[in-house]
Amino acid sequence: MSPAPLDASKLTITKTTTPKELLPKEKLVFGKSFTDHILEVEWTKEKGWGVPTITPYHNLSLNPATSCLHYSFELFEGMKAYRDSEGKIRTFRGDKNMERMNRSAKRAALPTFDGEEFMKLIDKFLTVEERFVPTGYGYSLYLRPTLIGTNVGLGVSAPDHALLYLIASPVGPYFSAGFKPVSLEATDYAVRAWPKGVGAYKLGANYVSCIEPQMQAATRGHSQNLWLFGEEGYITEVGAMNVFFAFVNEDGTKELVTPPLDGMILPGVTRDSTLELARAKLDPKEWSVNERKLTIHEVKERADKGELLEAFGTGTAAIVSPIDNIEFNGKNIKADCNRETFVVK
Ligand code: PMP
Repeated sequence: MSPAPLDASKLTITKTTTPKELLPKEKLVFGKSFTDHILEVEWTKEKGWGVPTITPYHNLSLNPATSCLHYSFELFEGMKAYRDSEGKIRTFRGDKNMERMNRSAKRAALPTFDGEEFMKLIDKFLTVEERFVPTGYGYSLYLRPTLIGTNVGLGVSAPDHALLYLIASPVGPYFSAGFKPVSLEATDYAVRAWPKGVGAYKLGANYVSCIEPQMQAATRGHSQNLWLFGEEGYITEVGAMNVFFAFVNEDGTKELVTPPLDGMILPGVTRDSTLELARAKLDPKEWSVNERKLTIHEVKERADKGELLEAFGTGTAAIVSPIDNIEFNGKNIKADCNRETFVVK
């Protein structure tokens, strides 16, 4: 018998008998409170995908020798469900997250799955958790699909057991500064990703090595690192955001720049939307929109000349976050967040 594909129609639902009280919106801290349920699907190499279940939110019980706890067989996605102006729940470009999750799964030697079937399961989950999707500008239900290797044993090999699950957290602003501009530290003493590495995949292992430098940056008053690569100081991305810079050229034309998808940065869904919108909405006589390499030195020089119009980060959690300051080697690069650079007439 060939292994079973993921099949949303097999879903079983067991609802909680102790529903949580909803927190007031002002009390929502990113990723700290969760909804009432968890969606889970087990996989084995032999049988394929099992019966998807939605059950009351609970702890996982794992043998201490489970592979995800030793060799980082773990990957995840971050996506959001919003309420539209009529109060209906919508997910934002979930197909892109499913594609990326499957790319990560393949790279991490974990099982891939039919993304459309998982989206159907997410929709069912959202129907169950409907009351947790907040209303209001900047509020949403953050969805965290996760895939872990669950085979037991210390041999280093591809997992033959895995668990795909989904949890969700009602959220407001990601940064503690709220929807205010963020300050970054350009980091070159540590590297987030490298050519032919795994920087383009959403593996948990990519995040662990970034936290200690992030703590260092925090002691100097910055909320995240702007990761540089190489002797040249190429700009790659921010802790959990892709990064964009808007410049004005000497002849008055303008350029929106973001680093290219060279395998070292996460191909952000918000990055993709931003590029698509910019190309569709900005006047091409005035603007060029480019995915190209740029260095921290170019940004510094152009900021000094008054040519840096704006800088911002993009990400599901962070949305579009204006950057007002980048510290590099003790010097500050100031960006002006109060311009109306992107007002589309
Ligand atoms: N880069 C990194 C390292 C991230 O963690 C994220 C957040 N997923 C992003 C960029 C932005 O990606 P997206 O727009 O898909 O959320």
